[in-house]
Amino acid sequence: MTTISTSPTSSSKHLGVAAVPDLSERLAAVRGGITDAARAASRDPAELTLIVVTKFHPVSLIRELAQLGVREMGESRHQEAQAKAAELSGLGLRWHFIGQLQSKKARAVRAYADVIHSVDRAALVTALADPTATAEPIDCFLQVNLTDDPSRGGVAPAGLSALVEKVAGAPSLKLLGVMAIAPLGEEPRRAFARLRNASDRLISIVPGATAISAGMSHDYADAIAEGATHLRIGSAITGNRPVAG
Ligand SMILES: *Cc1c(COP(=O)(O)O)cnc(C)c1O
Repeated sequence: MTTISTSPTSSSKHLGVAAVPDLSERLAAVRGGITDAARAASRDPAELTLIVVTKFHPVSLIRELAQLGVREMGESRHQEAQAKAAELSGLGLRWHFIGQLQSKKARAVRAYADVIHSVDRAALVTALADPTATAEPIDCFLQVNLTDDPSRGGVAPAGLSALVEKVAGAPSLKLLGVMAIAPLGEEPRRAFARLRNASDRLISIVPGATAISAGMSHDYADAIAEGATHLRIGSAITGNRPVAG
């Protein structure tokens, strides 16, 4: 039997225009890639959390993702994230703050974020702490700087243990694990191996904090091979980001 599809994708193929995969196809492709990478590493795909990074994209795209079953959203700019979380508060989404965080914005981010991935200095721990100790502890990751450039986000590996102790002493923060971005110009897998090392050191201080937030559009398979549990994937799913406004 011959089926004639009327979808825009196939009709554009007939016209000789390159078919552009839509959001659901890209999401399915990345989910498939995650499953493949997990199997290759003898890991259970069910232990991996996919966070779709929606920074710079409009709320309409986040609504589409929600309709496709995505619940974990990643954002990196405070004002944008705050506005999106407020507008979409009825959708039951979970907001991951993944960008560099100024201490003076810390309490405001805490108010809408479910998880903060970028805790990287003692002053930020102090700023995030709830002085009244009445709020639910907020989940957080310690960001580790895998480059030699101190201006990059993240604590230097040598400073990790002290920062872990600081967070462990803050009852309003719940430490989940480590987070990092692979440096440019280095084989990502080697960098993620260093992150795994940092994770082992963190676990020796806080045994329950076993999570590893790592892996973006171009390196998530390497991150999974080195133990990542939380993947932050943007453009491979959303398409290219609109230019910063
Ligand atoms: C933008 C961003 C991502 C996603 O990057 P893609 O290459 O689009 O997948 C992940 N993590 C952080 C910290 C980001 O800022």
